[in-house]
Amino acid sequence: MVTLKDYRVDIKPNWCPGCGDFSVLAAIQKAAVNLNIEPENFVLQSGIGCSGRISGYLNVYGMHSMHGRALAVAQGTKLANKDLTVVCAGGDGDGFGIGGNHFVHAARRNVDITYIVMDNQIYGLTKGQMSPTSPQGFITKSSPEGNPDNPVSPLQVALAANAGFIAQGFSGDIKHITSLIEQGMQHKGFSFINIFSPCVTFNKIFTFEWFKKNLQNVDDDPNYDSSNRSMAFDRVEQTGGFITGLIYRAERKDYVESLPGKAGKENLVKQDLKLSNEQVQSLVQKFM
Ligand code: SF4
Ligand code: MG
Repeated sequence: MVTLKDYRVDIKPNWCPGCGDFSVLAAIQKAAVNLNIEPENFVLQSGIGCSGRISGYLNVYGMHSMHGRALAVAQGTKLANKDLTVVCAGGDGDGFGIGGNHFVHAARRNVDITYIVMDNQIYGLTKGQMSPTSPQGFITKSSPEGNPDNPVSPLQVALAANAGFIAQGFSGDIKHITSLIEQGMQHKGFSFINIFSPCVTFNKIFTFEWFKKNLQNVDDDPNYDSSNRSMAFDRVEQTGGFITGLIYRAERKDYVESLPGKAGKENLVKQDLKLSNEQVQSLVQKFM
């Protein structure tokens, strides 16, 4: 039986005291334990930013990869060894700015991984500049007269890109985000969980208190139907995206199931991919 101790490391996170990312780390560990996943079969690939450090803070395999490219690394990991549980994690700048392109294509491609974004509406690691989810007019070090840009709506982008599992949580409610992460890991295909994870040092507007007052949980709404994509779009529009819960879920073929023939059906890591001398010679001849 796997326990929380199996997922702990001796390294102390160097996040600021009170940072929302502590809750996300705890929730990922708890979800993995609840699903009884052995740490050696769990991979966490992360991007760059304060939240990107997360891959070093639990006892699993993983890489603190390149800025905005963690999703490419995570999808490659899963395609090389489908027996692994693969989670990808990063921040709003990493996921919706620098890596925005990977986000859209990972959602539509539907490789069976879980993507967790710690969204604090700011660049924390570089000390407080506007990010892709900062609202218009938001005053930061890089927008002293107010952010001129419209923010990205992560939920609407995920809906438009046809992601099959879309959820949103808040670091102030560990129990709820643990449950969402568990559901995401059990979902077959790409699952996206956006988590409002306040930056207590550089974002003095979107604080724990602000989220506690302003978030509505669709899981508590008997009239909300998470299998209805149009309803999901409308609800995000009406609330400015300040909702939590399971926003949308649909069963569809994952990437490997959609590949023709035997492609992707056997683990690449178990195959002998070496080329024989004859194959190498034939390739060289072809390009001479
Ligand atoms: Fe967290 Fe912000 Fe500190 Fe980074 S700067 S560790 S996001 S509180
Ligand atoms: Mg951020």
